[in-house]
Amino acid sequence: MNFRIDQVWVGPDVVDEPMTKSIVQKLGNVEVLEGASVENGMRKLVMEPDPFRRGKRIIRLLKFKGNVVRPCPGTKSYVCCGLEILHIGQGCPMDCAYCALQAYLNSPVLDVFVNIGDMYAGLSEYLEQNSGQFHRICTGEFTDSLALDPLTDLATGLVSLFAEIPNASLELKTKTDQITPLLDLDPKGRTVVSFSVNAGQIIRKYELGSCSLKQRLNAAAHLQENGYKLGFHFDPIIPYPNFETDYYKTIHDIAVHVRPESIAWVSMGVLRFVPQLKDIVLARFGALPFFHDAFLRGLDGKLRLHVNRRIEVYKKLTGCLRDYFPQVRLYLCMESTHVWRQALGIEMENNDQLAEYLNEAVCCDDDSR
Ligand code: SF4
Repeated sequence: MNFRIDQVWVGPDVVDEPMTKSIVQKLGNVEVLEGASVENGMRKLVMEPDPFRRGKRIIRLLKFKGNVVRPCPGTKSYVCCGLEILHIGQGCPMDCAYCALQAYLNSPVLDVFVNIGDMYAGLSEYLEQNSGQFHRICTGEFTDSLALDPLTDLATGLVSLFAEIPNASLELKTKTDQITPLLDLDPKGRTVVSFSVNAGQIIRKYELGSCSLKQRLNAAAHLQENGYKLGFHFDPIIPYPNFETDYYKTIHDIAVHVRPESIAWVSMGVLRFVPQLKDIVLARFGALPFFHDAFLRGLDGKLRLHVNRRIEVYKKLTGCLRDYFPQVRLYLCMESTHVWRQALGIEMENNDQLAEYLNEAVCCDDDSR
């Protein structure tokens, strides 16, 4: 695994879980804390100058309680894609300066939910109870889908499971290239492995610990040869002066590695963030130029660039994406019908319409099943 782990904290009710034993065994000589030592460990950690940085080297094994599948936290004010989140854990060993999790999560460590028997049972029950609709389910909203997979081995089980489910698809979202175990499987058209991508200089300067663009695209190329559909998420797009040149280069690089027909979707989202993230980022990374642009408070309370500026940015990238991938299924993350119309020339009236537009990429490919 690419990520260094210094400690494992084991929750009291997961000591005997098979995944607990397997993770502890794989990590070998790493220090393992249990019982009161875990609470002491957390007390000490939160007193450190940057608990997040140190917390990225600590795995806490926990039991997940509650609904394992939940709607992505979208907002009524914008068109949302209807993605649902399967909770496998929260926190991420990489350290992107703009990462929203810094403001959302109330714990700095990497939580891994190890009661996977309950997770599979909850997932099956949920899909049976909601069998009248198609579900796009993703594991990469509160963590990276593959970053800890060498320890958890979750992805292979999920790919195999979703290959047999008639009314759902899986999206694994990552900034890593840890895809080797997936190559032995037949996803039957039901798994999209999606890569968050950005301008080269944003990746190099601000996505600490992540794979390079080249590594991500090499992984994507291997996956397409093994029957996986691919997604690319340009999010957050950071419109620094002459940004488009670097983003066009990234689009060109995708085209060099990936065939258009392998791509299920490409999303775009201009940088937006909850106000408190700005102070957190300032304390952890210093003053970053792009956090001090002319942001306005959007309908969801997040800080966003002016709508006309966002439209201008989307139009530029849309033009380039359509040059390379004329048929690509493009979508915007949390934007209004007005922005859809102006930037993409698409009348996207509501959430259901967007969900249907994306479902077509993964639910109608019966030949591959
Ligand atoms: S890879 Fe994603 S989850 Fe991990 S730090 Fe970066 S933005 Fe956050």
